[in-house]
Amino acid sequence: DAKIEIRGLSKSYSTGHGSLLAIDTVDLTLAEGEFVSIVGPSGCGKSTLLYVVGGFLSADGDVLVDGTPIRGPGTDRGIVFQDYALFPWLTVRRNILFGLERRDVPQAERDAVADRLIGVIGLKGFEHRYPRELSGGMRQRVAIARTMACDPAVLLLDEPFGALDAQTREMMQDELLRIWLDTRKTVLMITHDVSEAVYLSNRICIMSARPGRIVEEFSVDLDRTLP
Ligand code: ADP
Ligand code: ADP
Repeated sequence: DAKIEIRGLSKSYSTGHGSLLAIDTVDLTLAEGEFVSIVGPSGCGKSTLLYVVGGFLSADGDVLVDGTPIRGPGTDRGIVFQDYALFPWLTVRRNILFGLERRDVPQAERDAVADRLIGVIGLKGFEHRYPRELSGGMRQRVAIARTMACDPAVLLLDEPFGALDAQTREMMQDELLRIWLDTRKTVLMITHDVSEAVYLSNRICIMSARPGRIVEEFSVDLDRTLP
Protein backbone atom coordinates (compact mmCIF):
# COMPACT_ATOMS: atom_id res chain seq x y z
CA ASP A 1 0.00 0.00 0.00
CA ALA A 2 1.25 3.46 -0.80
CA LYS A 3 1.17 5.61 2.28
CA ILE A 4 2.48 8.76 0.66
CA GLU A 5 2.36 9.60 -3.02
CA ILE A 6 4.14 12.68 -4.24
CA ARG A 7 3.31 13.39 -7.86
CA GLY A 8 4.80 16.03 -10.09
CA LEU A 9 5.60 18.32 -7.22
CA SER A 10 7.12 21.69 -8.09
CA LYS A 11 7.66 24.70 -5.89
CA SER A 12 8.85 28.17 -6.83
CA TYR A 13 9.68 30.93 -4.41
CA SER A 14 9.39 34.52 -5.48
CA THR A 15 12.56 36.41 -4.81
CA GLY A 16 13.36 40.09 -5.11
CA HIS A 17 14.25 39.62 -8.76
CA GLY A 18 11.94 36.95 -10.13
CA SER A 19 11.36 33.42 -8.99
CA LEU A 20 13.45 30.47 -7.93
CA LEU A 21 12.44 26.92 -8.79
CA ALA A 22 13.28 25.11 -5.55
CA ILE A 23 11.93 21.68 -6.51
CA ASP A 24 11.10 20.52 -10.00
CA THR A 25 8.51 17.80 -10.72
CA VAL A 26 9.46 15.48 -7.91
CA ASP A 27 7.78 12.07 -7.86
CA LEU A 28 8.15 9.79 -4.87
CA THR A 29 6.01 7.05 -3.36
CA LEU A 30 6.49 5.68 0.14
CA ALA A 31 4.91 2.35 0.96
CA GLU A 32 3.43 1.86 4.38
CA GLY A 33 6.19 1.26 6.92
CA GLU A 34 9.03 2.44 4.68
CA PHE A 35 11.85 4.59 6.00
CA VAL A 36 13.02 6.84 3.19
CA SER A 37 15.86 9.32 3.50
CA ILE A 38 16.42 12.27 1.21
CA VAL A 39 20.06 13.19 0.90
CA GLY A 40 21.50 16.12 -0.99
CA PRO A 41 23.56 19.27 -0.79
CA SER A 42 22.45 22.36 1.04
CA GLY A 43 19.85 24.29 -0.94
CA CYS A 44 18.67 21.40 -3.13
CA GLY A 45 15.11 21.64 -1.83
CA LYS A 46 14.99 18.98 0.89
CA SER A 47 13.24 21.17 3.46
CA THR A 48 10.89 22.53 0.84
CA LEU A 49 9.84 19.00 -0.08
CA LEU A 50 9.32 18.02 3.57
CA TYR A 51 7.30 21.12 4.41
CA VAL A 52 5.08 20.61 1.38
CA VAL A 53 4.41 17.01 2.47
CA GLY A 54 3.78 18.33 5.99
CA GLY A 55 1.18 20.70 4.57
CA PHE A 56 2.98 23.83 5.74
CA LEU A 57 3.77 25.04 2.22
CA SER A 58 1.63 24.92 -0.88
CA ALA A 59 3.07 23.76 -4.20
CA ASP A 60 2.09 22.58 -7.65
CA GLY A 61 1.40 18.87 -7.99
CA ASP A 62 -0.13 16.36 -5.61
CA VAL A 63 0.62 14.89 -2.22
CA LEU A 64 -1.65 12.04 -1.17
CA VAL A 65 -1.71 10.21 2.14
CA ASP A 66 -3.54 6.89 1.91
CA GLY A 67 -4.89 8.04 -1.43
CA THR A 68 -6.36 11.29 -0.11
CA PRO A 69 -4.93 14.65 -1.14
CA ILE A 70 -3.59 16.61 1.83
CA ARG A 71 -5.14 19.93 2.72
CA GLY A 72 -2.69 21.63 5.00
CA PRO A 73 -1.10 20.09 8.08
CA GLY A 74 -2.85 17.08 9.59
CA THR A 75 -2.59 14.77 12.57
CA ASP A 76 -1.79 11.92 10.19
CA ARG A 77 1.67 13.50 9.68
CA GLY A 78 3.92 14.34 12.61
CA ILE A 79 6.89 16.56 11.99
CA VAL A 80 10.12 16.95 13.96
CA PHE A 81 11.91 20.18 13.19
CA GLN A 82 15.64 20.66 12.92
CA ASP A 83 15.73 23.16 15.77
CA TYR A 84 13.27 21.11 17.91
CA ALA A 85 10.81 24.05 18.09
CA LEU A 86 9.76 23.24 21.64
CA PHE A 87 7.50 25.73 23.38
CA PRO A 88 9.82 27.51 25.83
CA TRP A 89 7.00 28.49 28.18
CA LEU A 90 5.80 24.90 28.61
CA THR A 91 7.40 22.17 30.72
CA VAL A 92 8.66 18.91 29.21
CA ARG A 93 5.38 17.24 30.08
CA ARG A 94 3.20 20.01 28.66
CA ASN A 95 5.33 20.10 25.50
CA ILE A 96 4.81 16.37 25.01
CA LEU A 97 1.07 16.69 25.61
CA PHE A 98 0.59 19.80 23.49
CA GLY A 99 -1.07 18.01 20.57
CA LEU A 100 -3.31 15.89 22.79
CA GLU A 101 -4.49 18.82 24.89
CA ARG A 102 -5.90 20.41 21.79
CA ARG A 103 -7.85 17.27 21.02
CA ASP A 104 -10.60 15.58 22.89
CA VAL A 105 -8.43 13.04 24.69
CA PRO A 106 -9.49 12.12 28.26
CA GLN A 107 -7.16 13.23 31.05
CA ALA A 108 -6.35 9.68 32.17
CA GLU A 109 -5.31 8.69 28.68
CA ARG A 110 -3.15 11.81 28.33
CA ASP A 111 -1.43 11.07 31.62
CA ALA A 112 -0.71 7.52 30.48
CA VAL A 113 0.77 8.72 27.17
CA ALA A 114 2.95 11.30 28.91
CA ASP A 115 4.20 8.81 31.51
CA ARG A 116 5.02 6.21 28.89
CA LEU A 117 6.85 8.63 26.58
CA ILE A 118 8.80 10.29 29.37
CA GLY A 119 10.01 6.80 30.25
CA VAL A 120 10.83 5.95 26.63
CA ILE A 121 12.99 9.07 26.23
CA GLY A 122 14.67 8.55 29.59
CA LEU A 123 13.59 11.85 31.11
CA LYS A 124 11.86 10.72 34.29
CA GLY A 125 12.53 13.42 36.86
CA PHE A 126 12.75 16.10 34.16
CA GLU A 127 9.07 16.34 33.29
CA HIS A 128 8.53 19.63 35.11
CA ARG A 129 11.66 21.27 33.72
CA TYR A 130 11.59 23.81 30.91
CA PRO A 131 13.38 23.37 27.57
CA ARG A 132 16.06 25.94 28.46
CA GLU A 133 17.10 23.70 31.37
CA LEU A 134 17.83 20.75 29.08
CA SER A 135 20.77 19.72 26.91
CA GLY A 136 20.41 19.57 23.13
CA GLY A 137 20.00 15.81 23.18
CA MET A 138 17.33 15.98 25.83
CA ARG A 139 15.43 18.67 23.90
CA GLN A 140 15.57 16.57 20.79
CA ARG A 141 14.15 13.59 22.67
CA VAL A 142 11.29 15.78 23.92
CA ALA A 143 10.62 16.96 20.35
CA ILE A 144 10.39 13.36 19.15
CA ALA A 145 8.16 12.41 22.09
CA ARG A 146 5.87 15.37 21.37
CA THR A 147 5.43 14.13 17.82
CA MET A 148 4.97 10.49 18.89
CA ALA A 149 2.31 11.46 21.45
CA CYS A 150 -0.20 12.09 18.66
CA ASP A 151 0.63 8.70 17.13
CA PRO A 152 0.86 9.95 13.54
CA ALA A 153 0.96 7.36 10.76
CA VAL A 154 3.76 9.27 9.08
CA LEU A 155 6.86 10.81 10.65
CA LEU A 156 8.53 13.70 8.84
CA LEU A 157 12.02 14.45 10.12
CA ASP A 158 14.03 17.50 9.12
CA GLU A 159 17.70 16.83 9.88
CA PRO A 160 16.62 15.67 13.30
CA PHE A 161 20.11 15.16 14.71
CA GLY A 162 22.03 17.85 12.84
CA ALA A 163 22.58 20.02 15.88
CA LEU A 164 23.86 17.26 18.17
CA ASP A 165 27.38 16.21 19.06
CA ALA A 166 28.57 12.93 17.53
CA GLN A 167 27.97 10.76 20.58
CA THR A 168 24.48 12.06 21.28
CA ARG A 169 23.66 11.73 17.59
CA GLU A 170 24.53 8.02 17.59
CA MET A 171 22.40 7.47 20.65
CA MET A 172 19.48 9.29 19.06
CA GLN A 173 19.86 7.35 15.81
CA ASP A 174 19.53 4.11 17.76
CA GLU A 175 16.52 5.56 19.56
CA LEU A 176 14.85 6.43 16.26
CA LEU A 177 15.68 3.00 14.85
CA ARG A 178 14.12 1.40 17.91
CA ILE A 179 10.95 3.48 17.47
CA TRP A 180 10.76 2.58 13.80
CA LEU A 181 11.33 -1.15 14.43
CA ASP A 182 8.67 -1.08 17.18
CA THR A 183 6.01 0.94 15.41
CA ARG A 184 6.75 0.54 11.69
CA LYS A 185 5.59 4.01 10.99
CA THR A 186 6.23 5.44 7.56
CA VAL A 187 9.21 7.79 7.85
CA LEU A 188 10.49 10.49 5.53
CA MET A 189 13.75 11.95 6.82
CA ILE A 190 16.00 14.55 5.33
CA THR A 191 19.65 14.60 6.18
CA HIS A 192 22.95 15.56 4.64
CA ASP A 193 24.65 12.68 6.42
CA VAL A 194 24.89 9.74 4.02
CA SER A 195 26.03 7.31 6.69
CA GLU A 196 23.03 8.25 8.83
CA ALA A 197 20.76 7.55 5.85
CA VAL A 198 22.40 4.16 5.26
CA TYR A 199 22.17 3.25 8.92
CA LEU A 200 18.50 4.12 9.29
CA SER A 201 16.59 3.92 6.05
CA ASN A 202 15.50 1.20 3.70
CA ARG A 203 15.61 3.56 0.73
CA ILE A 204 17.71 6.60 -0.05
CA CYS A 205 16.87 9.28 -2.59
CA ILE A 206 19.58 11.62 -3.74
CA MET A 207 18.55 15.14 -4.69
CA SER A 208 20.51 17.52 -6.85
CA ALA A 209 20.25 21.28 -6.73
CA ARG A 210 19.12 23.93 -9.17
CA PRO A 211 16.50 22.83 -9.69
CA GLY A 212 15.86 20.33 -6.91
CA ARG A 213 15.22 16.91 -8.37
CA ILE A 214 15.54 13.32 -7.25
CA VAL A 215 18.35 12.02 -9.44
CA GLU A 216 19.12 8.61 -7.90
CA GLU A 217 17.44 6.08 -5.64
CA PHE A 218 18.99 3.21 -3.73
CA SER A 219 17.49 0.42 -1.70
CA VAL A 220 19.32 -0.40 1.50
CA ASP A 221 18.75 -4.03 2.26
CA LEU A 222 20.13 -4.38 5.75
CA ASP A 223 18.92 -6.65 8.48
CA ARG A 224 18.47 -4.12 11.25
CA THR A 225 18.95 -5.16 14.81
CA LEU A 226 19.94 -2.86 17.60
CA PRO A 227 23.16 -3.14 19.56
P1 ADP B 1 17.65 22.37 1.60
O1 ADP B 1 16.68 21.99 2.67
O2 ADP B 1 18.02 21.22 0.72
O3 ADP B 1 18.84 23.08 2.11
P2 ADP B 1 15.65 24.34 0.88
O4 ADP B 1 14.40 23.61 0.59
O5 ADP B 1 15.76 24.99 2.21
O6 ADP B 1 16.88 23.38 0.61
O7 ADP B 1 15.85 25.47 -0.21
C1 ADP B 1 15.82 25.20 -1.61
C2 ADP B 1 16.08 26.49 -2.36
O8 ADP B 1 15.00 27.39 -2.16
C3 ADP B 1 17.34 27.23 -1.91
O9 ADP B 1 17.94 27.81 -3.04
C4 ADP B 1 16.80 28.26 -0.97
O10 ADP B 1 17.65 29.40 -0.95
C5 ADP B 1 15.47 28.60 -1.58
N1 ADP B 1 14.48 29.04 -0.60
C6 ADP B 1 14.07 28.32 0.48
N2 ADP B 1 13.11 29.00 1.15
C7 ADP B 1 12.91 30.17 0.49
C8 ADP B 1 12.04 31.29 0.67
N3 ADP B 1 11.17 31.34 1.68
N4 ADP B 1 12.12 32.30 -0.22
C9 ADP B 1 12.98 32.24 -1.25
N5 ADP B 1 13.82 31.22 -1.51
C10 ADP B 1 13.79 30.18 -0.64
P1 ADP C 1 21.76 13.66 26.15
O1 ADP C 1 21.04 14.82 26.73
O2 ADP C 1 21.12 13.16 24.90
O3 ADP C 1 22.06 12.57 27.12
P2 ADP C 1 24.10 15.16 26.51
O4 ADP C 1 25.42 14.46 26.53
O5 ADP C 1 24.03 16.49 25.86
O6 ADP C 1 23.14 14.21 25.74
O7 ADP C 1 23.59 15.31 28.02
C1 ADP C 1 23.98 16.45 28.73
C2 ADP C 1 23.93 16.22 30.21
O8 ADP C 1 22.61 15.85 30.62
C3 ADP C 1 24.84 15.10 30.61
O9 ADP C 1 25.53 15.48 31.77
C4 ADP C 1 23.93 13.95 30.91
O10 ADP C 1 24.45 13.10 31.89
C5 ADP C 1 22.69 14.66 31.40
N1 ADP C 1 21.53 13.82 31.14
C6 ADP C 1 21.02 13.50 29.93
N2 ADP C 1 19.95 12.72 30.07
C7 ADP C 1 19.79 12.53 31.38
C8 ADP C 1 18.85 11.79 32.17
N3 ADP C 1 17.86 11.08 31.64
N4 ADP C 1 18.98 11.81 33.50
C9 ADP C 1 19.96 12.51 34.07
N5 ADP C 1 20.87 13.23 33.39
C10 ADP C 1 20.80 13.23 32.08
